[in-house]
Amino acid sequence: MDETRENRIENTPILEVKNLKKYFSVPAGLVHAVDDISFSIDAGRTLGVVGESGCGKSTLGRVLIHLLESNAGQILFFGRDITHVDRQELTTLRKKMQMIFQDPYSSLNPRMSLYESIAEPLRIMGHDNSGQIQEKVYRIMDTVGLARRLVNSYPHELDGGRRQRIGIARALVIEPEFVVCDEPVSALDVSIQAQILNLMSDIQEERKLTYIFVTHDLSVVKYISNDILVMYLGQMVEKAPAKELFRHRLHPYTKALLSAVPLPDIRHKKRRIALKGELTSPIDPPPGCRFASRCPYAREICHSKTPVCEEVLPDHFAACHLVREINGLS
Ligand code: SF4
Repeated sequence: MDETRENRIENTPILEVKNLKKYFSVPAGLVHAVDDISFSIDAGRTLGVVGESGCGKSTLGRVLIHLLESNAGQILFFGRDITHVDRQELTTLRKKMQMIFQDPYSSLNPRMSLYESIAEPLRIMGHDNSGQIQEKVYRIMDTVGLARRLVNSYPHELDGGRRQRIGIARALVIEPEFVVCDEPVSALDVSIQAQILNLMSDIQEERKLTYIFVTHDLSVVKYISNDILVMYLGQMVEKAPAKELFRHRLHPYTKALLSAVPLPDIRHKKRRIALKGELTSPIDPPPGCRFASRCPYAREICHSKTPVCEEVLPDHFAACHLVREINGLS
């Protein structure tokens, strides 16, 4: 790692997100996919983003690395405003921010060999020295555990684990500092998932990478994350260090979500909280708490006033009008 990068890593927020919004226009109105989200991540850490399917977590990841443009808010990368960038700035940014996709099969070009797939991002970034490209491709293949004898193989000849290793190699070959991982193990067999998660942790340690890890799988997020952000219908409802969140979840939605995670000790049975009630539509949602229609604690205020996400315990944020009462806090 170069010295400049090492110096920048000491307790620096690599990414700051302020009141970020992403809406999609549909015939019935506006889908509030990401709605007023603010957070920051220090360099070298992993932020897990969890929530049910359709909560906006993947959209958030795509907006952060400019695969989608935001409608409002601000994104700062090492303190620099990157909310709106032109084509040239985007190319520079791509060297520092990358994405690992969920489905390694559909994200790879079936007509490209393993070598060409991994070399492609380098060529897009302007590398044209074939000797250097080969050196970088072989080095990253070694790092992600792809045997060199596979170099001329095509995606259909490889299993899911190897295809995902190619996806990781493609993202990391240009040596980014920040990587959005969008459900990177959910398409893999459970036995392969652990190998890929361990690999990603090792690479993070070695390269001091910062990850945003988007997943619906709470066991995975608990394993990989330093901090966890819980999303519900486009909004952040809770954020805390991972260990703290699994010990004391404060928001009623997080309590229900985490009640579904199996405990390692079968002697201790956990009561699963079943959510009842209609899901609020993400299209032009009404004012108030978006979880109110399913929340067992909802009162009148919950249907009229949108709760603000505030620090309830040290470094532990939640968006709920009744959070103190529900959790017996003063
Ligand atoms: Fe439930 Fe009200 Fe809190 Fe929303 S604000 S989570 S409806 S208690």
